[in-house]
Amino acid sequence: MHKDSCQTDILIIGGGIAGLALAAILGRAGIAVTLVDNAPPSDIKPSGRTVALMLGSINIIKASGAWSACEDHAAALEIMRIRDNKIDIEFDSAEIGQEEFGYNVPNSILRSALYEQVKSLPSVSLHTPRTLKNYLTENNRIVAELDDGTNIFARLLVGADGRNSRVREIAGIKSHEIKYDQQAITCIVNHSHSHNNTSTEFHFPAGPLALVPLPGNQSSIVWVETPERAQEILSLKESDFINLLREKTEDLLGGMTLETKPESWPLSSVRARGMTAPRTALIAEAAHVMSPITAQGLNLSLRDVAVLAEIIADALRLGLDPGAQTLLKKYESRRRLDVTGHVFGVDGMNRIVSNDNPLLQKIRQSGFQTLSRITPLKKFAMRAGLAPVTGSRLAGGEPL
Ligand SMILES: Cc1cc2nc3c(=O)[nH]c(=O)nc-3n(C[C@H](O)[C@H](O)[C@H](O)COP(=O)(O)OP(=O)(O)OC[C@H]3O[C@@H](n4cnc5c(N)ncnc54)[C@H](O)[C@@H]3O)c2cc1C
Repeated sequence: MHKDSCQTDILIIGGGIAGLALAAILGRAGIAVTLVDNAPPSDIKPSGRTVALMLGSINIIKASGAWSACEDHAAALEIMRIRDNKIDIEFDSAEIGQEEFGYNVPNSILRSALYEQVKSLPSVSLHTPRTLKNYLTENNRIVAELDDGTNIFARLLVGADGRNSRVREIAGIKSHEIKYDQQAITCIVNHSHSHNNTSTEFHFPAGPLALVPLPGNQSSIVWVETPERAQEILSLKESDFINLLREKTEDLLGGMTLETKPESWPLSSVRARGMTAPRTALIAEAAHVMSPITAQGLNLSLRDVAVLAEIIADALRLGLDPGAQTLLKKYESRRRLDVTGHVFGVDGMNRIVSNDNPLLQKIRQSGFQTLSRITPLKKFAMRAGLAPVTGSRLAGGEPL
């Protein structure tokens, strides 16, 4: 073996929320994991980005051991409200006998909590800040080369390295990207009125504007605009930014101040043509990126994490090779429908919602109204949103 080399069962490239969650879940089961990230996770900075996670995703975060450190910073999402051209459609979790649909939590809190978990696990070794340069597949293992010359030998390599995944590129997995003429402005605001644990999404032709509850009188904002308009809005002084925000949100939350500086993110949809290659599995944004319009991106990613963790743990319990082709096929087939359905569904939804065509607007509104008036249909939609069919033990709250 090379002087600077190490051996592991599972090598994860990428220490975003998805990569860290997988490392924590596997590490808690005593599985040998090495995680490489090109930015030191200890540098995680607070930002205005939050994630709305449904209950299945919360179960997966609980399995990682990180939820208790997030709880005090997360707000329950009890009512989801859509306001489309003065028409309101409300989904209340109480209607399906649930206290809440999920929780909204700041990205930086969740990522730091996962990082602390991973750091405390003896079977997980961290290489940060280190970049994956290349990797080769041999008969029964991969050999990965990092930027400092370290070689890592592993039975399975997991690409959790985000939308511009180097793992996807080296593995030769093609992807299809649609760049939207949209940017999302995000920030956290303090406000004078209570949000009542209600998340509200306003629909406008350029894209939606969502107010998502945080603990106390704080909410996170996801405000989608054209790139040109987003830049104009970002250059406004604070009082003008707040006035515009209050006007667009019909003063729902009353007086506001900025808790974090507004930032913007270009939006696109990416779908990898496959989620596996020899001894390689892609998870999360390395495999799929979606518009934040339905707040599904990380929820979908955490289901990749759960299913892959279960397949790996089951294989190792039976003394099987976790990088074997049969197991990778199983992963791909268990994830295909959920991933493809969501990537196409969210893309379609983005086109229908971010549109000022009067006919499309009418169809959209009557669709929402039908959904909200027919109780069984509405309950079915709410339950399907809470628990998409994945067959995952972890998402269902069972142990690994
Ligand atoms: C405005 C906005 C709002 C959103 N809101 C929601 C929401 O409410 N609910 C929801 O479910 N989702 C939401 N999402 C989606 C969610 O934020 C993302 O899916 C998630 O943060 C991506 O996490 P990740 O771990 O897949 O990728 P990343 O966070 O991109 O992590 C990838 C990591 O890999 C590292 N890396 C990259 N290349 C290499 C390399 N060669 N070597 C080593 N390391 C490497 C990077 O440094 C990075 O740390 C939202 C997205 C946006 C843009």
